[in-house]
Amino acid sequence: MRSPDTLQRFVFENNAIRGELVHLDASLKAVLDNHAYPAPVGQLLGEALAAANLLSASIKSHESLILQCRANGPVHMVVAQCSRGHSLRGLARWKGKVSGGDLEALCGEGHVLITIEQGRGGERYQGIVTLTGKSLADSLEAYFAQSEQLPTRFWLSCDGRAAAGMLLQRLPGEAEDPDAWNRVSQLASTLTRDELLGLSVQEVRHRLFHEEDVRVFDPRRTIFGCTCSRQTVERVLSSLGRSEIEDILAKEGRIKVNCEFCNRSYTFDAVDAERLLRVDTAAATPSTRH
Ligand SMILES: [Zn+2]
Repeated sequence: MRSPDTLQRFVFENNAIRGELVHLDASLKAVLDNHAYPAPVGQLLGEALAAANLLSASIKSHESLILQCRANGPVHMVVAQCSRGHSLRGLARWKGKVSGGDLEALCGEGHVLITIEQGRGGERYQGIVTLTGKSLADSLEAYFAQSEQLPTRFWLSCDGRAAAGMLLQRLPGEAEDPDAWNRVSQLASTLTRDELLGLSVQEVRHRLFHEEDVRVFDPRRTIFGCTCSRQTVERVLSSLGRSEIEDILAKEGRIKVNCEFCNRSYTFDAVDAERLLRVDTAAATPSTRH
């Protein structure tokens, strides 16, 4: 039996290959429950969340990784974010009827953006690749090939209740067996969608890699978590400017902002708004020195 909401890393000893297997359950449900997603949209979002989790395993704990698909098809935006190494959130936007199919049918033309942020004021790394092939996994493999990073393979799956993903990466350095990368990749490609969703890392090892020397590391838990706060909402509001804020207050009596990721709502009355605008004005006034 596999454990829910965990990521497990493993290595092929002496063959310079590493792997990761992730399963999302309650964390996926928390994301999907926030919006009434058509099934194919929820499945693509689940795959994106699994992928973001896999990619985040090799970044530092204070960084966050954001995977975005922006496209011109029925599903025109997918965002999946993994922060502090375990906290996951995401959302997707679509228009019209989404009847499923492969990546091209769902998204049309577009690209995948991968951003690694070090937090407020910190450095930011961004990479981009055109949406390629039949699946998000194909696009991510193309991303690694184009950006001349280490050869990396992805397998992603989501059935609307659980999502799963596996990554294999060829590391720099000598492999004891030069054919190991091809063999291990081909074995992994025989894993069915149900097996990926249902098997634990030990079972995958037994099913695929029983002739390989595989070492499995301790599991890492994944939870749903949103990084929104009243402070971040205040920053967005104050960027609207005084006249727009006063307009909303005149019409609505207060300003209500809903976080699309977690559905939390933040309310600002006229007094809150005035304080916010005053802080903003003070910050924008340059100080003079004599
Ligand atoms: Zn939120």
